[in-house]
Amino acid sequence: MKLALISDIHGNLEALVSVLNHIEKQKVDKIYCLGDVIGYGSDPVSCLELVGKNCDVKLMGNHEYTALGLTGTDDYNPAARKSSDWTREQLTDREQSIIAEYEMIHPTGDILLVHASPHQPDQWHYIMTPDAARKAFDSFSAKLCFYGHSHVPQIFCEREPELPRMQVGHDFLPDEEGRYLINVGSVGQPRDNDARACYAIFDTDEYEVLYHRVEYDIETTQEKMTQAKLPRTLVTRLSAGR
Ligand code: ZN
Repeated sequence: MKLALISDIHGNLEALVSVLNHIEKQKVDKIYCLGDVIGYGSDPVSCLELVGKNCDVKLMGNHEYTALGLTGTDDYNPAARKSSDWTREQLTDREQSIIAEYEMIHPTGDILLVHASPHQPDQWHYIMTPDAARKAFDSFSAKLCFYGHSHVPQIFCEREPELPRMQVGHDFLPDEEGRYLINVGSVGQPRDNDARACYAIFDTDEYEVLYHRVEYDIETTQEKMTQAKLPRTLVTRLSAGR
């Protein structure tokens, strides 16, 4: 079975459409969305609609959580706070009830899906250090955990969490005996110095993870964000991918 894993779309419709078109050509069986469909970008409503139509699992991200008023924006930087308030204004009761149904964590077979970390999923910890990876490994028993949140495609192995592997858009063959935390990168706001949209496909038969980078019309996205008067820093970072 081929599973597509997408995360951190962040209201970027052009990136999402390009990624869904790319996924269609890969003949996948299911599409799992790991959260943060909204926030930062100018098209939260259209992105929620497309994810609703195309994805078999929809997970709660911290930006959905904030939009539902379940957490404040005190931890956010000013640009994130401004875009978060703007996003919330775009959502009607209909979208609010859609995201209220998103799951916090989703086990399926011997894999686990979560937005931030399986360790206290509603506390939105970043897994970017060996210490955070160890805490995460201690809190689940599946072999593979796919996650997002940091927007950096990166893999931690339980045996050597101090040596995370950066993914630069190629395949990864997990050792069938090992346990891994696999960050699938970000569709709508990559932060690994590659501006292209990022997602992953897990082939359960070949037991292989393939990372894909997909070009999209960044300029159109930036124009729409500018028109919506979203913070400049969020607009410019898209062309740098960081
Ligand atoms: Zn995010």
